[in-house]
Amino acid sequence: MSKIINGKEIAQSVKDNLKEKVLQFEKDYGRKITLAVILVGENPASQVYVKNKITATEYVGMKSLSFRLPENATEREVSDLVTSLGADDNVDGILVQLPLPKHLDENKILALIPASKDVDGFLAENVGNLLLGLPTTVACTPFGVLQMLKYEGIELTGKNAVVIGRSNIVGKPMAMLLLKENCTVTICHSKTVNLKGVCKNADILVAAIGKPKFVTADMVKEGAVVIDVGINRTENGLVGDVDFEAVKEIASYISPVPGGVGPMTIAMLLENTYICATKRENK
Ligand code: NAD
Repeated sequence: MSKIINGKEIAQSVKDNLKEKVLQFEKDYGRKITLAVILVGENPASQVYVKNKITATEYVGMKSLSFRLPENATEREVSDLVTSLGADDNVDGILVQLPLPKHLDENKILALIPASKDVDGFLAENVGNLLLGLPTTVACTPFGVLQMLKYEGIELTGKNAVVIGRSNIVGKPMAMLLLKENCTVTICHSKTVNLKGVCKNADILVAAIGKPKFVTADMVKEGAVVIDVGINRTENGLVGDVDFEAVKEIASYISPVPGGVGPMTIAMLLENTYICATKRENK
């Protein structure tokens, strides 16, 4: 029977810790840390994410600027907004909620965010810094997973870590972070041969696939640490990528969905905003 990692509780402690740092920043620099959030279109999941991000931003005492553009906004309109926020000295972080409507070129728009305000850690410069092991902003979800592991005091050095999923926003940066923590890392993906065998060898198993209950008990080693990044909307509500009920009998630690990685992602967005603001004041 595993210990359930309470992401909600850990995220709360990150936010409460941040509250004090944000207040101190305001005293030191005479201004509020400011995060700008841009939402284009009416995607219902994105609307919920943005609402939660704004609530959390205000909870820690940061200022939140919210921009909503219609579904049919032109690339020029979105680009102009990002560029003007990039040039605005009062703005510390810019978040463009993804996915953007199909007619907009995501990469082109994201590239307009100055690396110093890239609170999502998506830009090539920040991803490159992560690869080089230099200080940077790291994509919020993998950054949150690492904080969960550290909070629980889980030893990482020398451990076999397997990440299922090779996306730019979760799988790849997750693998880099685990490598930096001295894990022996394997990245699996849709073309991996003998996925079950590879996973079965994992001391730390991170699932970021986007398929409900994809990781079954027979893929998990006795005593492994299992982190479920997946968020899948099913008729039975939100479900992760791991068959939680069965895997929790085998793992030593497991993160649930909901209440696991999700809240950590938002907490790390705020941490990244704080990091960006502090760096901008100290450059
Ligand atoms: P993605 O679709 O970009 O990537 C999915 C990855 O899974 C791909 O690399 C693919 O190769 C791999 N994959 C697909 N089928 C596979 C198979 N049969 N075997 C092995 N690998 C397979 O998704 P993403 O953006 O990385 O997100 C993954 C999941 O995490 C989604 O459910 C998403 O909603 C969730 N997510 C959660 C948070 C959070 O805050 N908790 C944040 C981001 C993403």
